[in-house]
Amino acid sequence: MLDTNTLNNYRNAGSIAAKIREEAKKIVKEGTPLIKICEKLEKKIISEGGKPAFPLNISINNVAAHYTSPPEDKTTVPPRALVKVDIGVHVNGFIADTALTVSVGKVGLELVKASELALEKALKTIKDGVKSSQIGGIIEKTIKESGFKPISNLTGHLLEQYNLHAGKTIPNVKTRIGFTLKEGEAYAIEPFATTGAGIVEDSKYSYIYRLASQKTSTQVLSHIAREFKTLPFASRWLVSKFSKKRVEEVIKRYVSTRTIQSYPVLVEREKGIVSQAEHTFIVKKNGCEVTSA
Ligand code: MN
Ligand code: MN
Repeated sequence: MLDTNTLNNYRNAGSIAAKIREEAKKIVKEGTPLIKICEKLEKKIISEGGKPAFPLNISINNVAAHYTSPPEDKTTVPPRALVKVDIGVHVNGFIADTALTVSVGKVGLELVKASELALEKALKTIKDGVKSSQIGGIIEKTIKESGFKPISNLTGHLLEQYNLHAGKTIPNVKTRIGFTLKEGEAYAIEPFATTGAGIVEDSKYSYIYRLASQKTSTQVLSHIAREFKTLPFASRWLVSKFSKKRVEEVIKRYVSTRTIQSYPVLVEREKGIVSQAEHTFIVKKNGCEVTSA
């Protein structure tokens, strides 16, 4: 069971994330610079009383996840595109992780519906004792019945304080082995549907990072440890504080020593377009409380 404080933190993070979702729907439009969207939504998280639990992810078409604007990004929303906006908010380390897909120019509407329906059906099955493999089975079946493929190597995940991926994962396909969800645990479920192979691969680009070790030997690393703890951060967030050159050097050096972990931009193997839907919930005895809706 969760204590009242923890529950309130999860609920506050969730209600802020829900507001950001609504704002995202309004501002994702043809021609808008991605960096404007990232900055605007991240600022709103803070003005609403939360902090970003990770950089705003804005991933377009065959990019499935982990794109955030690098410093001075010139990319804009194309006239016809599926735009996935993935939002992370934390309050005292308790996280709401939620995502939606905006269709620009009416592309991929069926694909958007497929991931939304899979999420809706999955959430309906959640209660104390439900098996992760069963949830994966429902997501896979729903997406396949819509005529698409689920992405099998992206998953939902357990959430803990200041820990976005806290070990257990909820698959988007039926698995042979799994685990049981327990009352009081917080999870994110995130079905991805695609017209492609159903597998994502690392691209050669990374704009999101995470401190993997607490050995902070430089000013930049101490700043990261203090501001973001073990949560993911963007290189864009550092260039307001340090020079771009310094940031690039520090990231390059400490990624190579594995002090910093990088999250490469993930692309669909067959360049299929990708939709995503995601919510965070707390498992209850006979159901769940969706915090981010
Ligand atoms: Mn997410
Ligand atoms: Mn997630």
